[in-house]
Amino acid sequence: MSDMDDGRDDEAAAHEAEARAAAIEAGRLLFARPWRFVLGAPSLKYLPPAGPVEVALAGRSNVGKSSLINALAGQRDLARTSNTPGRTQELNFFRPEDEGAPITLVDMPGYGYAAAPKDKVDAWTRLVFGYLRGRATLKRAYLLIDARHGPKPNDEEVMGLLDKAAVSYQVVLTKADKLGADALAAVVAQTAEAIRRRPAAYPEIIATSSEKGLGLDRLRAEIAGFLAGSGAS
Ligand code: GDP
Repeated sequence: MSDMDDGRDDEAAAHEAEARAAAIEAGRLLFARPWRFVLGAPSLKYLPPAGPVEVALAGRSNVGKSSLINALAGQRDLARTSNTPGRTQELNFFRPEDEGAPITLVDMPGYGYAAAPKDKVDAWTRLVFGYLRGRATLKRAYLLIDARHGPKPNDEEVMGLLDKAAVSYQVVLTKADKLGADALAAVVAQTAEAIRRRPAAYPEIIATSSEKGLGLDRLRAEIAGFLAGSGAS
């Protein structure tokens, strides 16, 4: 390679690093505001009026969803964290205090609780699928999967719902701190394979740890990036 090519490569790398830093900063600014809980909707008729773009988070009970919402917003008690799975099934809406902020986070009720009776599972599906299918302001879902377990059959069912509702979604692995680098790389590859043919899945997977702060800047940047792309900010 000639010196000139080297120069161009360096320049391209510098531009890339700059763009990445700008995206990370946009993500930081998007979330660095006080957030508040707006309401919990136990059924579709309780949904708040459609407002700013909604970003929904879904995952099995205990996947670390509340911890991730708290970590993203930098607020310890925004979403409740607990070890008791199968709690109230509600769509919980969170917004920045600042009314002009271009985002609403929607915490979807956890699923996959082994002892859940059929009528509860049916109610979950009605609520979640009704929301996914009918909400024009919902622009992206994040499907949280425990890095220790990889995708389970009920995660795949939810991917099927998202594909059917044509809601674009991205997989986030949680609790990445519990795995070594090789095991984490293996579960990323396994998850990438599971979503490869899914029409609404975004191919890149983000590994996070709410406990160690891993991957949060990347996830915030990703969210800020598609909000900007959808003309929301
Ligand atoms: P949710 O049911 O999906 O809302 O899950 P929670 O956020 O309540 O978390 C379930 C359990 O996983 C709690 O005991 C958390 O402390 C734990 N947890 C959540 N995130 C992490 C993480 O990043 N690393 C580790 N090691 N544990 C986590």
